[in-house]
Order: sequence, then structure tokens, then C-alpha cells
Amino acid sequence: MSARPSTFAERGAAEVGSDKAKAVGDGARHLTEKRAAAVVAYPAMDAMRDRAREIRLHTLANLDTYVARFADAIEALGGHVFFAADAAEANDYIRGVAETADAELIVKVKSMVTEEIELNTVLEADGRTVVESDLGEFIVQLADDRPSHIVAPVLHWTRQDVGRLFADELGVPYTEEPTALNQIARTHLRRIFLEADMGISGVNFAAASTGTIAVVTNEGNGRLTTTAPRVHVAVMGMERIVPTLEDVGVMLEVLGRSATGQSLTTYTNLITGPRKQGDPDGPDELHVVILDSGRSTVLNDDVSEVLACIRCGACLNVCPVYRSVGGHAYGDIYPGPVGAVLSPVLFGFDGREQLPYACTLCGACLEVCPPRIDLPRMLVNLRERVAAEGDAFSWLGPAMKAYEFTATRPVMWRGAVDGASLAGKAKRGGWFTRLPGPGKAWTAVRDLPAPSRQSFRRWWKKNHGA
Ligand code: SF4
Repeated sequence: MSARPSTFAERGAAEVGSDKAKAVGDGARHLTEKRAAAVVAYPAMDAMRDRAREIRLHTLANLDTYVARFADAIEALGGHVFFAADAAEANDYIRGVAETADAELIVKVKSMVTEEIELNTVLEADGRTVVESDLGEFIVQLADDRPSHIVAPVLHWTRQDVGRLFADELGVPYTEEPTALNQIARTHLRRIFLEADMGISGVNFAAASTGTIAVVTNEGNGRLTTTAPRVHVAVMGMERIVPTLEDVGVMLEVLGRSATGQSLTTYTNLITGPRKQGDPDGPDELHVVILDSGRSTVLNDDVSEVLACIRCGACLNVCPVYRSVGGHAYGDIYPGPVGAVLSPVLFGFDGREQLPYACTLCGACLEVCPPRIDLPRMLVNLRERVAAEGDAFSWLGPAMKAYEFTATRPVMWRGAVDGASLAGKAKRGGWFTRLPGPGKAWTAVRDLPAPSRQSFRRWWKKNHGA
């Protein structure tokens, strides 16, 4: 991963209150509402989440067995499997496949793991043209931008932004009408699908028993990318495996509802091997790249359950921090609560020490996470490690010491609480809109409720006389 220019706090301060961050907040709220409606309409959701958790944890506990079974199944189907220890090995293998196939034009379907290994940069450095086919990723690529959400990469863009981009880059008349914008991208991409020599996809889930790869999209681009070109390369983190095709079914039940409020993502592609004799379509070659890149280390970590993540994005959508700062503030490809856990343990804490603090510990992410990953607990665990290394915010230690000093001395504590009540009285229970000193950063983007005019202790004494 390339070095990042600043800290989370600096990037967050630059993003918060911006049009980009507001677009992310609005989009995230909208997705949260859609999820909530889908959950209400599906009484089995809770049971399915429990089942999804069981499947994911069972698979992680037996990952070596299932990865080996999956690799055997793929090879029996005539596909090729490559185990990549890190990003460099994965990229080298894929560039070799592209060279052998003489692939000048490569089409891709949205994949977080290929973003993680920065595959496009490597293939483009070899002189190959790589075109993203997911509408959001297509926009990101055209604008030389970065995704800000794991499901909706351009959540930070408005349709007016997209209209201007298409007019500038594709030479089409300006429009901000979503259907027209879709049609422009579709027309542009159609030729790419037909002419591409190689298609690259990620893998949402992989069934070990049958060697089946599930790739889900809402635009049909996954189907075209994995069937039209003569070579298909599927890149997956080693944790994408589940034991059987039935288990894939359980995952799909919770994925669509959690991600976008859909009972099922529009296009579900189940790919079982390359084209066979008599098949009307499909690639001649199928290569599956299984990436470790730190995952086997995470498997032995206290926060190993984070590998159960199915990349639905629901935890991002409900997170008050993500909604305020957007995805770019996190600095890595995985933003939001899951990114705040995953990025430090996968890529290292260096430069990511502040990520575990990008959380109010409100617990909203745990409430919506399909496999019920306890992200708040993990974030506290990571904070302990950062603090033990002396890498926490410099003001945090003295602040906690001052709190401890006051809170363990009843006279001082009563004085502090009475002082806060005085501030509440002065404000008549209203809101602070402009605070001085360190409070300035808070009220720059939101108001702060004034403390109660009467402390709980005084209220109790008055009403209960003790
Ligand atoms: S941690 Fe849970 S809610 Fe967040 S993306 Fe992963 S599966 Fe979805």
C-alpha cells in the first residue's frame, strides 16, 4: 500500500461539512432506510443472520480444509488456481496471464480485493487498457478518483457531478437525468465487453464443495465481464469461501437486504468452471487467484472474526462517523467501522493508529451486521494496543488522568457537576453553537446540547431526600 499523506483526524477535518461528505451522509441514510424496510418485510432475517454467522465462523475455523477443497474442485473443472501470498505475487501472476493471452483490452467488474492490490496500476504500467464496468467504478476511473464506499463507490458524487464528468470526458451533451446517464455509460461500455480479451472479477462467495464462484451485481456487467472475454480471472481474498452452494444461498439472502434493501441483488452469477464443450458461451480459460496478504495472520488475531465480513456496507451506512466524514478520510480502500478494524490488522498500524478511535462506540454497526461481527468490541481491543504502544492521541492520556483525578474525589466531582449545571442554567437547556478552544472543532460542524440545569444527584436529593 502506498504511504498516506496525513492522519485520519486531518483527513476527517478536511472532509467534514463538505459537499462530498454531505452526499455520503444522505446516501448512507437512504441505504439504511432501505435496509430497515427490507428487514421488516422478511421475518426470517434474524434466523438467517444467525445461520450466516454460523457458516462464516465455521468456515474460518476450518479455512485450510475448505480452501483446499475449493481449489481441487476448480482444477477438476478445468480451471487454474494460484495461491498468492501477497499483492505482488497476485499481480505478477495476473500480468503473466494477460501477457500469455496477449490481452490488450481488459474489462473489470467491481472488486474490493483488486482495489486492495492496486491491480489496475500494474496492468496499465504494462501498456494494457483496463476498463471498469460497474457504473460507480467507471465514474471513479474516468474522474481519477477513489471509491468512498464498499458497495456504492461514488456515494460522494451527485448526479450533477456525473453529468458534468460525462460531458467533459465522453463528449456527450450535459444531462443529470439518471436513466440518461446510465444509458451513456452502457453505450460506451457495450463495445468494451465485446472487444475485451480478458475479464477480471472479484468473488462475493466461493462454494468449496462445487468450485462455484458467486459474483453479484445490479447492472449485469458481472455477467458480461465473466462470460464474453475469452479469459476470466477471478480474484478473491481467501476468506470468501463457504462450504456449499446452499451456504451461498444463505449469504445471498442477507447480503442484498443488508447492502441495498433488495431481497436479492439483481444479477446473481454462479460460475462453475470455464466453458465446456457444447456451452454456448463462457471463457475458454478460468483463473482463480486466492489471496492471503495478511489474512492468515488476522486468523490468529483477537479480531479474527472481522474476516467473516461479507462486504455488505451496512455498518458504514449506519455509522455516525462515516456519515460525517465519508469514506476517503479513512485513507484505505476499506472505510467505515469494518475498515477501522480491518485496515490496521491487514495493512499494519503504522499511520493507522487513529482509526480505532474513529468510533463513538454507539453499537449501531453491530445491530445491522449480517454475521453479527462485534466491531465495537474489536475497536476497543485495537485502542488498547495503540495505547499500549504509546501511540494514542497525545491529549488523551492527560485528559483521562484528569478525569480519573476528579471522578475519584467526591468533593471535586460534585464541584465539576455543579459547574456544568451552571452552564446548563445559563444556556436554559438549549444548545451550544460556538465553543472556544478544543470545543471549537465540535461546534464547527454540529451543536452541543447544554448540560442539564440540575444534576442527577441534586434531583435525587430534592425528590427522595437522601
Ligand atoms: S462488518 Fe458486517 S455490516 Fe460491515 S460490511 Fe462487513 S458484513 Fe457488512
